[in-house]
Amino acid sequence: MENTFKALLIREENGQFLKQVQQVPLSSLPDHDTLIRVTYSSLNYKDALSATGNKGVTRTFPHVPGIDAVGVVEESSGKLWKKGDQVLVTGFDLGMNTWGGYGQYIRVPGEWIVALPPNLQPQEAMALGTAGFTAGLCVDKLVQAGIKPSDGPIAVSGATGGVGSISLQLLSKLGYQTVGISGKKNTDLQQQLNGTEWLDRQEFTDESKRALLKPRFAGAIDTVGGSVLTTLVRSLQYNGVVAACGMAQSGDLNLTVFPFILNGVSLLGVDSVQASMPVRQRVWNLLANEWKPEQLVSFTKQLTLEELLEQIGQMLAGQTEGRTLVKLW
Ligand code: NDP
Repeated sequence: MENTFKALLIREENGQFLKQVQQVPLSSLPDHDTLIRVTYSSLNYKDALSATGNKGVTRTFPHVPGIDAVGVVEESSGKLWKKGDQVLVTGFDLGMNTWGGYGQYIRVPGEWIVALPPNLQPQEAMALGTAGFTAGLCVDKLVQAGIKPSDGPIAVSGATGGVGSISLQLLSKLGYQTVGISGKKNTDLQQQLNGTEWLDRQEFTDESKRALLKPRFAGAIDTVGGSVLTTLVRSLQYNGVVAACGMAQSGDLNLTVFPFILNGVSLLGVDSVQASMPVRQRVWNLLANEWKPEQLVSFTKQLTLEELLEQIGQMLAGQTEGRTLVKLW
């Protein structure tokens, strides 16, 4: 094994954040028990924030982003893993203040690691990544809340994004009728997800102060927050459920209590970062088996670290769609 490895390093210089693909010493990795040779990572919204110096995600620089990684254990001093195990890591502190998957090696606590499910190829695991795991958690919330395909359509916002597009694929696979709310029109991905009805985000959003709107959806998965989420909450049928996981538009939520106390609506929060190990294992196994999206890899672009730089800016501008896989070797 070499003493250095290739990584996308972000440095802070005079208030500017500089991105460069370069060799970094293996000794710069933190002192955790398990060293993983990373084969693939992926691009999530949070990675784009970390790579551009958002201190809400990453406080200390120089830093290697990448909240997702799949690979093979190179060495471990812990009891949970041994050399050669095929593993994946998402969330916890990976790629936030612990150097992440945009490097050919990561060093993490064994407790953050999930065994790669047997029916999932490494590329498929990262085509899903945190976005797919979060989509799985959101769908699981609706299923656990008792929302059935016969209850009515499920709306998904930020629908061409990572979490949104995988949510649509999982819901369709489980037999739900789906409605995608998007700022885009007639993209390739929208055409390929042709079982989904598409609504324009601006036309859908209701900025009025009406406490309740026409009931249209049995449930919803929201990745954007703000006025889209308030419109969704007010547009649910009686006993409808929204799983909310994101804030691509806004962290604000300007609502009255009426949807909750008159329509029995539930707003359920979803967090992938600190999800417990039993939840991770259960949802990853569903994603590898019964819930595995048919078109997963065809909706996924594969880039090298060098090619990733441009994609980061496009993601922050809301111009990307589907998922981006990052090949490390
Ligand atoms: P993406 O960038 O892939 O997707 C976000 C989508 O939201 C875009 O494709 C776009 O879809 C829409 N969008 C972008 N900007 C705006 C805007 N200003 N107003 C309204 N819609 C917008 O990101 P991810 O799918 O990776 O993540 C989505 C959100 O979920 C992020 O806020 C992320 O931080 C959060 N997240 C939360 C997790 C958790 O554990 N709670 C885990 C993973 C993600 P379109 O053009 O189709 O409208």
